[in-house]
Amino acid sequence: NRRIVLASRPVGAPKESDFRLESVDKPQPGQGQMLLRSVYLSLDPYMRGRMSDAKSYAEPVALDEVMVGGTVCQVEQSNHADFEVGEWVLAYTGWQDYGLSDGEGLIKLGKNPSHPSYALGVMGMPGFTAYMGLLDIGQPKAGETLVVAAATGAVGSMVGQIGKLKGCKVVGIAGGEEKCQFAKEQLGFDECIDHKADDFAEQLAKACDQGIDIYFENVGGKVFDAVMPLLNTSARIPLCGLISQYNATALPEGPDRMSMLMGQLLVKRIKMQGFIIFDDYAHRYNEFATDMTQWLAQGKIHYREHLVEGFENAPQAFIGLLEGKNFGKLVVQTNQP
Ligand code: NDP
Repeated sequence: NRRIVLASRPVGAPKESDFRLESVDKPQPGQGQMLLRSVYLSLDPYMRGRMSDAKSYAEPVALDEVMVGGTVCQVEQSNHADFEVGEWVLAYTGWQDYGLSDGEGLIKLGKNPSHPSYALGVMGMPGFTAYMGLLDIGQPKAGETLVVAAATGAVGSMVGQIGKLKGCKVVGIAGGEEKCQFAKEQLGFDECIDHKADDFAEQLAKACDQGIDIYFENVGGKVFDAVMPLLNTSARIPLCGLISQYNATALPEGPDRMSMLMGQLLVKRIKMQGFIIFDDYAHRYNEFATDMTQWLAQGKIHYREHLVEGFENAPQAFIGLLEGKNFGKLVVQTNQP
């Protein structure tokens, strides 16, 4: 039973030495419990927050404890009446081969799901985040301009595609030409701008010639600086994530733009709202699941997964997620089914 624990709290970007791979005995399921064997582990930006002991909406991972994370597992042993050996489940067993469960919080995925790992992406937490953030906070209307950053990632790729289904003009922002091409050609975005380009802000302004009605914020930093002057009156900003800041150790260099931001919010009556997906929207999961299942079946949603082979490669892959090295939803294949 391999597991990866938090060895030290990173200062700035996480390093491989902040993680430690260990081997421990396989746990034994007690009465009413199951032994779950992970096949896929989801790697997500929020894990950077759990590595830090700064105050947040969730408890940090303790030092020497297993890193948390969503997993798709198969039931290997069952002392639970509702679960059979071989069945697939969505669980939260973290960065380890085996976990015990009494069934609480598990989602059944059936005996033979066609794409079990989708439960970590398009049909799971990231897809749900995109759906609720855009539809509930963003309130998209046909003809409006929607801008989304991290546009080819797990959340951003869904935000843009749902925006197209709602009739918006969609402008993505992504790191590099290959990702931008993919956003336009495969995801159907109207435009996609490379945030690494020297003239990024000018290109974004040109692409948004009618201004920006909805900005789905995944990134923060210089991407937001370029977006801010383009926001229209009554714009909405679902504030989903600020990944460019997750490794920051200090406030950004000046000048201080806070009063400029406040002034924009005021005179343009902009609505900016943060949300934490399961805390705020767990009760609406079925709405999402119904729509997304249908859109996928109709071929209206394109989903790209970045699959990393080998449990031991999880730390490196996670470090890369915070540098834009993933191309699509990042998932580790921990074991063979
Ligand atoms: P992604 O699959 O989009 O992967 C992260 C991407 O972020 C990278 O590929 C990279 O894309 C971009 N990125 C990384 N560092 C930077 C940087 N310094 N500047 C600009 N872009 C950067 O991840 P997710 O879709 O899982 O998550 C996207 C955002 O949504 C995150 O901020 C995450 O924290 C947030 N989130 C929030 C939730 C909530 O409940 N509020 C729930 C789920 C996610 P590129 O190469 O294109 O720059």
